[in-house]
Amino acid sequence: MNSSAAPSLAQLPLTALHGVGAKFAETLSKLDLYNVQDLLFHLPFRYVDRSRVRSIGSLRMGDMALIEARVLTTQVQFGRRRSLSVKVEDDSGLINLRFFHFNAAQKNSFDQGRLVRLFGELRPGSSGLEIYHPEFEFIDAPSSPHDEEAKLTPIYNLCDGVSQPRIRKLCEQAIELLHLQAPDELLGEQVNQHFAVNSLAQALAFIHSPPADTNQQQLFDGEHPAQQRLAFEELLAHYLVHQRQRAAAREEHSPSISVNATLLQPLLDQLPFEPTAAQKRVINEIAKDLKQSHPMLRMVQGDVGSGKTLVAAMAALAAVRSGQQVALVAPTEILAEQHLRSFKQWLEPLGIQLDLLVGKLTAKQKTSANAKLLGHETDIVIGTHALFQDNVRFRSLGLVIIDEQHRFGVAQRLSLRDKNDSLLVPHQLVMTATPIPRTLAMTSYAELDFSIIDELPPGRTPIQTVAISQKRKNDIIERVDAAVTEGRQVYWVCPLIEESETLSAANAETTYAELKEALPHAKCELIHGRLKPAEKEQRMASFKQGHSRILVATTVIEVGVDVPQASVMIIENPERLGLAQLHQLRGRVGRGSTASHCVLLHGDKLSQHGKQRLAVLRESSDGFYIAEKDLEMRGPGEFLGKRQAGDMLYRVAHHERDAHMLDLVHEYGQSLIQQQPETVEKLIQRWFGQRQDYALA
Ligand code: ADP
Ligand code: MG
Repeated sequence: MNSSAAPSLAQLPLTALHGVGAKFAETLSKLDLYNVQDLLFHLPFRYVDRSRVRSIGSLRMGDMALIEARVLTTQVQFGRRRSLSVKVEDDSGLINLRFFHFNAAQKNSFDQGRLVRLFGELRPGSSGLEIYHPEFEFIDAPSSPHDEEAKLTPIYNLCDGVSQPRIRKLCEQAIELLHLQAPDELLGEQVNQHFAVNSLAQALAFIHSPPADTNQQQLFDGEHPAQQRLAFEELLAHYLVHQRQRAAAREEHSPSISVNATLLQPLLDQLPFEPTAAQKRVINEIAKDLKQSHPMLRMVQGDVGSGKTLVAAMAALAAVRSGQQVALVAPTEILAEQHLRSFKQWLEPLGIQLDLLVGKLTAKQKTSANAKLLGHETDIVIGTHALFQDNVRFRSLGLVIIDEQHRFGVAQRLSLRDKNDSLLVPHQLVMTATPIPRTLAMTSYAELDFSIIDELPPGRTPIQTVAISQKRKNDIIERVDAAVTEGRQVYWVCPLIEESETLSAANAETTYAELKEALPHAKCELIHGRLKPAEKEQRMASFKQGHSRILVATTVIEVGVDVPQASVMIIENPERLGLAQLHQLRGRVGRGSTASHCVLLHGDKLSQHGKQRLAVLRESSDGFYIAEKDLEMRGPGEFLGKRQAGDMLYRVAHHERDAHMLDLVHEYGQSLIQQQPETVEKLIQRWFGQRQDYALA
């Protein structure tokens, strides 16, 4: 083979394949597929076995199965929706097919006794298992039981305008080409040996089209050598792209900021408490970074209530004393306002100028706030997404602090770096209560350094959590009454309805009315996202100051709200929320010295899975453990929030299953960086292609 003449697969555009014109190529770009190599690395995320005919008797709900059966009866049913119901049977049993879209010809084609081969997913029906809209064809004779050539069918990620059969055909063509022109073995031969595969080409061909007699369990678990070989390369590519970003940051220039005890003392002197040992350790770690003349990229993880705000304030004070400005970004207005309150209390007496920049400001107020930033009249600005606006610029921004970082998108975070009038790049501190599992920390967050506040301030009493059915809501209202009589303050959180803030608000209003009627003597406030910000603020303040005793809220109070004397939390429909989110919500109580209670008031038809999830919260108050469980039950895409919105983080790798490879990824990655920088670029190109910016959060 003359390899110098043939273009590499990365140079071969998709339009070189049969069935791809300019228009379809455009559609495929939505999947980040641009060339034949991209297609080869567009790996299936699961498989179905269409190679063997299953007997009806052996089928279970959720199976994707190929069946051969005889038509028994055909009937048009007029339920909520008109449908065609076709009963078919084989020697082992009977099953119902249902079609909601059908015409007379189709209906008539199902002659009694006719043999049909069908494929589809088993779901529960009114009388046993059903398949909706199976793929089907009529056959003359049953297929022969053994087909040596049979393959499992890969299932790929799709987008609008691309179907499974169509992308499958493209991948088949790509595999053909793979046999003529293998992709570069970017990793040494010893890597293939380590994973017991012959070549990258063979591993790819296998993954796209595994023989049906493969060990299916191993394949479905992602443990096949071919998958493991690719998972390694994928984790390596993630590691490398983030290491490259880390290296790039070291080449940038930032103002050197000094942090020392003398400088912090005036702040600490005002506090009614001592910083915990963990807070002191973390501020020391931050101090070492800030002294450098290249940007800090540090993430502080600390469970809800661990006192991240104080650490942020210490870093901000130091930056201001070094002549720098600071921007603190929070995900919600309530949170931004709360931070402003704490910062004002701590830092205003020290002569520091603070300002707020949030969406609700009038145009005039915004213009004035912007002018003060550009003129360096403001030392520290605290705000929300409003800070990302293009017209927000700083004279000398030295430190960016992002609270609850998982709430922000990639582009947003990056946009803050370029807001400086000076040529210096600001230091970045990101804070999160959501722990990052080790695999992600070492690959997808490898550009960051980590600090952990692994200690809660002393004197907190653990929160007792119970899960109770909504049917007992009246009992709970009685308990709330008793709590209020004892002088306690209560949060009552209403569920988010789908994504609609309007419906959620309506829902909270109903509960509010209900509580007011049931407990006329207890002062109750309502807060939701539809309220005018000033109103929201005022009601929040009333609760914080203890004037109102019950705060009915939507999940707007989820992150960071701090009312230490509130000690009871009721969460309605907790089954609609993620575990990490519930943990965050629950973290609003248990901040003072009274024993706190959290009631998870779930719907009365809670599934087994739902029960197990809530049990995790009953059993543990450890944010790290809960986040791990959450991840286990949901998958990393959701866990990381917007960062991977609508997108799984990895194609073949799995954060837990493949964690054992991390040392090797690290070791091998370092040797590539030192010895083969061109290979590093090729690997990044192969796995990220046009998505390189996206990878860099
Ligand atoms: P989070 O880490 O969840 O953002 P906060 O910064 O809101 O937590 O702190 C929670 C509460 O603990 C606040 O009321 C804060 O003033 C208080 N706090 C912070 N550090 C200490 C400490 N060292 N000792 C006692 N209370 C503290
Ligand atoms: Mg916080």
